[in-house]
Amino acid sequence: MDFSYSERQLKFRETAREFAENEIAPLIRQMEEKRRTDRDLISKMKSLGFYGIQYPEEYGGVGSSYLEYVMVLEELSRVYCSIGGHISVNSLCAGTILDFGTEEQKRRYLPELLAGDAIGSFAFTEPDTGSDARAIRTAAVRDGDEWVINGEKIFITNSTLPGCIAVFCKDVEKDGKITTIIVPKNAPGYSAQKLVSKMGMHGMEVADVVLENVRVPYENAVGGEEGRGRGFEILTTEIAIGKLGISAQCVGMAQAALDASISYAKQREQQGKPIAKFQTIQWLIGEMSGEVEAARYLTYATAHAKSKGKNIVFDSARTRLFASQVAHRAASSAMQIHGAFGYTTEYNVERIFRDMKLAEIYEGVNEIQRVIAAAELLR
Ligand SMILES: Cc1cc2nc3c(=O)[nH]c(=O)nc-3n(C[C@H](O)[C@H](O)[C@H](O)COP(=O)(O)OP(=O)(O)OC[C@H]3O[C@@H](n4cnc5c(N)ncnc54)[C@H](O)[C@@H]3O)c2cc1C
Repeated sequence: MDFSYSERQLKFRETAREFAENEIAPLIRQMEEKRRTDRDLISKMKSLGFYGIQYPEEYGGVGSSYLEYVMVLEELSRVYCSIGGHISVNSLCAGTILDFGTEEQKRRYLPELLAGDAIGSFAFTEPDTGSDARAIRTAAVRDGDEWVINGEKIFITNSTLPGCIAVFCKDVEKDGKITTIIVPKNAPGYSAQKLVSKMGMHGMEVADVVLENVRVPYENAVGGEEGRGRGFEILTTEIAIGKLGISAQCVGMAQAALDASISYAKQREQQGKPIAKFQTIQWLIGEMSGEVEAARYLTYATAHAKSKGKNIVFDSARTRLFASQVAHRAASSAMQIHGAFGYTTEYNVERIFRDMKLAEIYEGVNEIQRVIAAAELLR
């Protein structure tokens, strides 16, 4: 097996790293305070092609692989995970259209989404259900050549940003099977006004969405007539790719926690010597370093498998499970190494600790990732 990276991959990593350090880092404080994704940052990421890395050029993508995609997400998340999350969720919407849409839908929506001119969202969670997607209540009723959609989706990332949203609906004519419908966010009846007040990931906008008599053309059902009732398959397929993105975010956060720990341990002195000289600190750093590398290679292996066309439903469940646990342990160890200072907003480990927790919850809680990972082995 060849573990070396191509020139192109290294270039992607370097571009993303420089961008994150030079363009994202100075805006973090402001995004944390305003709880918004910086709009100028979106424009700059558009020009670098960050919204379309892994997608075919014929639809406006960059034409690279999932490996480059996770490398970029990792670098962005190493500096500020909110931006990794923002891009990753855009990909959930774009991936849905690429993998399940009709040719017309691909030509209509992908160029905008992959250029970052439209920002995508992906909505399945509702007030009464998150993990049990089949229990959704948002209803889509056909009325001639239109769909009429009514319901409520909660915790929807990017829903406040202009673009389109893939909405998972109960298809009333199809005995309530799930149909995914593309809804422009400027459609009358769509509203996503109030941002969710959350613990972290403040630079990633998340809001509850109300759909009140939203009318969209009948052809907006993902996959057209044949796509009706395939929403559950779309959800499991695309969430598997989404979890790959989350794994990359976790690697970035864990690496940042490790970097911060090394730097702090070398400069903080106790008993007349840097705390890096204490074996307890060395143990934490040694352990983190191995875990971060393991999470990185697992993430890259799953990205590679996806690029080769493999179904990654099981792989991405165990990758996300492990990577999120690594990020959790790394963030906790980093705070311990920073002592009281780690608990203050002065150091980035406090933010990493808050941001990291989401990776164990969204796009499927870790309890379910364990069940999916085991399912492949126990059948
Ligand atoms: C910041 C943020 C952004 C989000 N972005 C989006 C988005 O863009 N689109 C979207 O649709 N959703 C989004 N979500 C919602 C997220 O995906 C759901 O919260 C998640 O799927 C879990 O659903 P739930 O919160 O309803 O938890 P529940 O389903 O209520 O689960 C609660 C707990 O019960 C246990 N549990 C539940 N089911 C099982 C089971 N089958 N087996 C074992 N244990 C179980 C677990 O311990 C779980 O943690 C977001 C959430 C947050 C916080």
